[in-house]
Amino acid sequence: MAVLPYIHHLFNLETCQAYIHRLRWKDRPLQCPRCQSHHVGPWGAYHYQPGLQRYRCKEKACKRTFNDLTGTLLDGSKRSVMHWILATFLLCLSCSSRRMARELGVHGRTSYRWCWWLRNAALSYEMHRQLEGTVEADDLYHTAGHKGQATHGGKKVLGRRARGRRKKREPGRGHYDKDRPAMIAWVSRQGAVVIQATRDFTVQTVQKAADLAVQAGSRLYTDSASSYRALKGYAHDFVNHTKKEYARGDVHENRAECLFSLLKPYLRIFRGISKTTLPGYLGFFQFLRNFRQLNAFEQAERILYAALDPAVASRARTGDFVRCLDHCGLLQTARN
Ligand SMILES: [Zn+2]
Repeated sequence: MAVLPYIHHLFNLETCQAYIHRLRWKDRPLQCPRCQSHHVGPWGAYHYQPGLQRYRCKEKACKRTFNDLTGTLLDGSKRSVMHWILATFLLCLSCSSRRMARELGVHGRTSYRWCWWLRNAALSYEMHRQLEGTVEADDLYHTAGHKGQATHGGKKVLGRRARGRRKKREPGRGHYDKDRPAMIAWVSRQGAVVIQATRDFTVQTVQKAADLAVQAGSRLYTDSASSYRALKGYAHDFVNHTKKEYARGDVHENRAECLFSLLKPYLRIFRGISKTTLPGYLGFFQFLRNFRQLNAFEQAERILYAALDPAVASRARTGDFVRCLDHCGLLQTARN
């Protein structure tokens, strides 16, 4: 499980290129990215990018050249593949984009963009995760407002002082409109987790969230919140925290609460997050938890493997995976 033998790869550009080459065509047939023809052959190399193999499509109508990076997330980047490998590694060690910029020597906007592209690529593993068996659930509220840049770039003009919401938040449940959206964690006793950001904690929202995250007919253990008690389609049991009951034999939600104790310091790294990006951060944390048996480099390898798939890369660039995570509008349209 040691990381050091992997790190050694990073000091040599040609080893990195060979590594990316191996990852790009592993389990994927060598084919032209434009016409999907398998009739291709090597076509020299680039003098400014040693180790990057170039190919040419032998199809008469096509005759285009391409290389290991064509169509992938790394395509067209001015930075070397070494930067990308290290960036993905740092992301799995839960670095913020600013920290990454400093460690890699790239601009903050570059690392921010990379972070989101790579998070999207990681989410391709988490899109249709559904839990079964015995599942624990718990909810949490997190302050998330409008952090971020203006759409036209540069600093956002607020026209007011910072609100200091952490200091004056109201007790009780939060709401998306009050800049305090809810999060629901579903933790299977078999190990897998699903974390969702939701607009509120009404019966309808929780039912919708449960249907997405947990297979019907599963056994569900929660606390005594009324939204859980109204859930349909599950064998449900709950502990009553108000009566100081935290475990009754097998019935408890300690794993879900433990997950939140890990999630809170993870989110703190980003120093306040926007409610629009919250599902993305939660989704990536979910990826890290579901692949927690791997070390950071092995996790990074999974992400790079997805990022080198042109089908994933084109969706990751537009942020499509994060948008899909906000599944069926758990966060946005609970008004109806
Ligand atoms: Zn072709």
